[in-house]
Amino acid sequence: MKTIQAYRFALDLTAGQERDVLAHAGAARVAHNWALAKVKAVMDQRTAERSYGVPDERLTPSLSWSLAGLRKAWNAAKPDVAPWWAEVSKEAFNTGLDALARGLKNWADSRTGKRAGRPVGFPRFKSRRRTTASVRFTTGAIRVEPDRMHVVLPRLGRLKLHESARKLGRRLEAGAARIMSATVRRDGGRWHVSFTVEVERAERGPARPGVVVGVDVGITHLAVLSTGEMVGNPRHLVAAQRRMRALGRALSRKAGPDRRTGQRASKRWERAAARLGRAHARVANLRRDGLHKLTTRLATTYGTIVVEDLNVTGMLANRKLARHIADAGFAEIRRQLAYKTTWNGAGLLVADRWYPSSKTCSGCGAVKTKLALHEREFACEMCGLVIDRDRNAALNLAALAAQFDTAGSGPVAARGADQKTRVRGQVATKREPGTASAGQTGTVPPQGRTIDRALTKAH
Ligand SMILES: [Zn+2]
Repeated sequence: MKTIQAYRFALDLTAGQERDVLAHAGAARVAHNWALAKVKAVMDQRTAERSYGVPDERLTPSLSWSLAGLRKAWNAAKPDVAPWWAEVSKEAFNTGLDALARGLKNWADSRTGKRAGRPVGFPRFKSRRRTTASVRFTTGAIRVEPDRMHVVLPRLGRLKLHESARKLGRRLEAGAARIMSATVRRDGGRWHVSFTVEVERAERGPARPGVVVGVDVGITHLAVLSTGEMVGNPRHLVAAQRRMRALGRALSRKAGPDRRTGQRASKRWERAAARLGRAHARVANLRRDGLHKLTTRLATTYGTIVVEDLNVTGMLANRKLARHIADAGFAEIRRQLAYKTTWNGAGLLVADRWYPSSKTCSGCGAVKTKLALHEREFACEMCGLVIDRDRNAALNLAALAAQFDTAGSGPVAARGADQKTRVRGQVATKREPGTASAGQTGTVPPQGRTIDRALTKAH
């Protein structure tokens, strides 16, 4: 099975190499900004011409927004715009033009309704100060050196890695992987290289193919499994977050830049901002690590994984929950599980977002009207069951898989296109996405009423 996978490594650049990378990133920005100005000028020109009553066929021809089109225009203009163009790899310009082509497409798709989600703004000019320096290479000599501590990139040459690339190196040597692109980027004050790699993965099944696990992505824990296991947040995360908050407060006390008065940031502010950036990166790394460990373990262990489908955009609007949800990286867990279950031949089921996994008793199926977020225990009034709130939710999710199985829609383990099945015989409470914390919004239909509910197979 061929999959596309990313590998990211921290780099230790020399001062000279850092200058080279920055020159490439700067070239990417120049091409991006030049092409954006050109696109805007042509749009404005056509609007003006239309207002004078120029017929459509006689308007200034519009510029192609495709990468190929932008590249053609750039190549014609670069001797004038960037007489130094030969000093950097053409991939640098390509990086900027590609970003613009994608930005324009996203904007156009968002306007015409082809793209879901939040509206996408028109691409903006990239400033040296506010843009993350990055350059992407798609052709030429890109390789990991046999010592696995160095990589070679076009023009930039041999760069030292801060950590060993042994896993990727092994795959490349075995011929089981092919590097498609390499991006050098500065995140959080540190340089990284990330490779997009096509990997040939051996087909293998999960260790316990017949076992279903429900996963409740938690607030106090990273996740709670229906097996009763509570997966904690990664170590050091809380401390790293505390430090991040403290640095944020320290930054706000220093004289930052002011766009209205044109006030430049103080040196102290700049140093504090850099410290905060590094702290952010550390929190993000710790979190990513914890999520990857969890999702890999789930996908290689269980035959079927059931998770909840929450409207994350809706939930983030709720300020109090927002931080926690963001912390738990809810959407990220879903995303990782989706591809890792595919790799491992496991099944991923996503419970409908209306399914009241927290408010349903996993013992008798009775549904509560209210369950405030601070109530960490689920106590059933019908059967007397008292159980950890998140474990109860996880058990309910796992039980959904059995219903999917017996609903006559085929075995859970079967892989296929998106499937939906109706689960009958349970009572649902209506819950708006995003109000899960409120706990006061539920209304329970009379007991015994049957409501159809959907369970979606993710892949
Ligand atoms: Zn009960």
